[in-house]
Amino acid sequence: MQTPKKILKEVFGFDEFRPLQGDIIEYAMSGQDAVVVMPTGGGKSICFQIPALLFPHTTIVISPLISLMKDQVESLKANGVEAAFFNSSQSEFDKRIIVDQCIEGKVKLLYVSPETFIHAFDHWLKEVPVSFIAIDEAHCVSMWGHDFRPEYGQIKMVRKHYDNVPYMALTATADKITRKDIAQQLGLNDPQLFLSSFNRDNLSLAVRGHVPKKQKEKEVLAFLNNRPDEAGIIYCLSRKETEQWSQFLQSKGYDARHYHAGLSNADRDHVQESFIHDDCQIICATIAFGMGIDKPNVRWIIHNNLPKNIEGYYQEIGRAGRDGLPSETVLYYNYRDVVLLNDFVQNGDLQSTYREKVQRMVQYAEATTCRRNILLSYFGELNDTSCGNCDNCISPPELFDGSQLAQMALSGIIRAKENVGLNTLINLLRGAKSMDVFENNYHQLKTYGVGAEHSFRDWQHYLNQMINLGLMEIAYDQHLKLRVTAFGNAVLKGEKQIQISKPVEKAKQKAGASKKAAAKADPADLLTQDLKSFRKELASKNRVPAYVIFNDVTLNELVAKKPDHIDELENIKGLGKVKIERFGEQLIEIIGSQKSKPMSKSKKSTTDQTLDLYLAGLSVEDIAKERELSPTTILGHLCKLYEENHPINLNQFVTEYEVNQIREVRKKMGFTSQLKPIHEALNGEIDYHKIGVALTILGKYIK
Ligand code: ADP
Ligand code: ZN
Repeated sequence: MQTPKKILKEVFGFDEFRPLQGDIIEYAMSGQDAVVVMPTGGGKSICFQIPALLFPHTTIVISPLISLMKDQVESLKANGVEAAFFNSSQSEFDKRIIVDQCIEGKVKLLYVSPETFIHAFDHWLKEVPVSFIAIDEAHCVSMWGHDFRPEYGQIKMVRKHYDNVPYMALTATADKITRKDIAQQLGLNDPQLFLSSFNRDNLSLAVRGHVPKKQKEKEVLAFLNNRPDEAGIIYCLSRKETEQWSQFLQSKGYDARHYHAGLSNADRDHVQESFIHDDCQIICATIAFGMGIDKPNVRWIIHNNLPKNIEGYYQEIGRAGRDGLPSETVLYYNYRDVVLLNDFVQNGDLQSTYREKVQRMVQYAEATTCRRNILLSYFGELNDTSCGNCDNCISPPELFDGSQLAQMALSGIIRAKENVGLNTLINLLRGAKSMDVFENNYHQLKTYGVGAEHSFRDWQHYLNQMINLGLMEIAYDQHLKLRVTAFGNAVLKGEKQIQISKPVEKAKQKAGASKKAAAKADPADLLTQDLKSFRKELASKNRVPAYVIFNDVTLNELVAKKPDHIDELENIKGLGKVKIERFGEQLIEIIGSQKSKPMSKSKKSTTDQTLDLYLAGLSVEDIAKERELSPTTILGHLCKLYEENHPINLNQFVTEYEVNQIREVRKKMGFTSQLKPIHEALNGEIDYHKIGVALTILGKYIK
C-alpha cells in the first residue's frame, strides 16, 4: 500500500518530512479543512501534492500566477506526476486536451487561477470528480493581506458543490487577522490551523548602516567576487537605483539585469525567465520582483535600502535559500531611506501604522542583539537562545559607558542651536576645517574639536546608537536636524548614564559574513561543473529551468558522496524513482569518468596560491602584482600560513625591537588584539600591517 512517507521517497526523493508536513498530510487525508501557514521555502507544496497522489480523483490547485503554475507543473512532471495547468495563456487546442484528460481522470493535479476555476466550473469542471482542493497564496483572499486579489473572493461561490471535498489553504503570511479572514472568505469548515516556525536558519542575517555609496559599491563587489556563480537579488527602493546598480555591475563584468514595474510585460518576463533558467546571475529590482519565483538556488539577497516593514523584508530575504542550503542576506540602510519611506505615505488613517512599521524596521536595523530573535518575536515566536548566524551573534558588540561621549554630542547640538544634522555635528565635534563648520561659525563654539580623537566613522557609529537610545531625535521633516530629547537632557546633566557599543573591526565583520558557507560544493570542482553542464543541457532540451532536473542540494550530495552504482542514487536527496530511471545511468557515468581523472587539476585555495609563489622566492609586492591583489592581502595570507605552521619568515617584515615594543604595550592593555589601540598607544609610529604581523608572531607564544 502507498503511504505518504513512501511517496515522499519514491516520487520526491526525500527521506524525512519537515516539521508539520506529515501531520498536515494526514489531516488532509482524513477529509477535513486546514489552514497551513509556513514561511516561504518552508515546504508547503508537498503538503498538498502528496495527498493529491493518494486520493483517488483529481486535486485542484488554485494559484494566482501563471508563471508559478508552470514551474510547479514542470517540477511535478519531472518527478513523473500527472499534472497540468489550465489558463488563459493556452491555445484552444491545448485546453481541449486537458479538459479531456481531466474528464478521463488522467490528471492528478490540475493547477488553475481563481477566475479560470470559476469559469471552468461553469463549463466543464463540474463534471470532473474532485478529491481535494488546495488554495495556494491564500492570503490573496483577504483585504488584510498585503496582496489582495478580488478574484479569490469568487472561490467560495462553488463551495456548496464541493461540500464533502477537503480544502487546504496555504500561505506564508503570518498575521492573525489575515489567517482568520482566510478561513471565512474561503468558506472553510472549522479548519485546523497548522502554523510552522518562521525560522529559516539557513539564512544568515547582516545589516550595514550608514555606509557611503562608494564604500557600499566596493563592499558589494567584494561580496560578489567571492560568489562568482551564485544567483542573487539586489532590492532597491527606486527604479532609478535598480538601473544604476545593474549598469555598475555590468561595467564590472557581472551578468546583471534590472527589473521594475516600468518595464514592458515582455521585458519583465524575459528578465525573470533568464534568472530562473540561470542565464542571468544578478537581478537589481524593486519589490515588484520575486512573487511568482520558486527558484530554489537564490544564494543571496542584498537590500540597497531599508524595506518598508518587517513583513516585506522577511518575505524578500525568504526568497534566498529555498532549497535549505546556506544563503546570505545583507541589509544596507541609512537615514535618507527613512525620509524617503515616510514621504511615500500621505496623511490618512494608515499613516500612523505605516510609520510605526518603518520605525520597527529601523529598530531592527540598529539592534545590537540577535537579529533572528527580533524577527521571530515580531512574528510571535519567542526564542531565548541566540542564533549564531547573524552579525550580532557572530561578533557581539562590546559595550562601554558612553555617557561622556553623549555629553559632548548633546552639548554640541545645543550650542549649535539644534540646527545641525549628523555630518555637520561630527565635523564640529572633530574640529574639522570644513565649509559647513565655518559658514555657521561653529569653530567658535566651545565644543569645537572636543571629540577630535575619534574618527568620523566611529562618531557615526556612536551617534546612531545615541539616536536609537532616544537621547536625540532626527527631525525628518526639518532636513534631518538633530533635537535633544528629555532623556538626552538628563544624560547631559549627568542624571542618567548610557551604555553603547564599540565600532566593530572591519576584519571581524568580514569574517562574520557567513560561518555556514563552507558547506557548499566548490564551484571550481570539475565534477560539479560537469554535473552542472549535464543538468543545463537536459534542462534546455526539455525547456525547463535547471533546478527542475535536480537542484543544488542534489548536486552537492552527488559531489560529496560520488555514488558508484545506480542503486546508490536512492540515497541522494531529491532523486525519486522517475528521475533515477530517466538519467541515473548518465549521472553514474559522469561521476565515474571524473573519478578516474587525476586530482591535481582542481583549483587551489587563495592562500595556497600565495604559498606557492612565496616558496618560489617572490617578494610580497611581486606576489601581489602576480595575483592582482593588494600587498596587505598577501601579507594577511602569509600570516595565516604562518599560523598553519608553513615555513614563512615573518621577521623580515617587522624588527625584533618593534615586536618587543608591541608586546609591552599589549601587556599593559590587557592583551588586546585590536590594532587601533596599539597603534595609538605607540603614537602611530608603527604601521598597522606591522602590528598585525607582530601580533601573529606573538600569538604563537601567548594564547
Ligand atoms: P514553499 O511553497 O513553502 O515556499 P516549497 O514547497 O517550494 O516551499 O519547498 C521549498 C523547497 O524545499 C523545495 O525545493 C522542496 O523540494 C524542498 N522540500 C520540501 N519538503 C522537503 C523535505 N521533506 N525534505 C527535503 N526537501 C524538502
Ligand atoms: Zn543571531
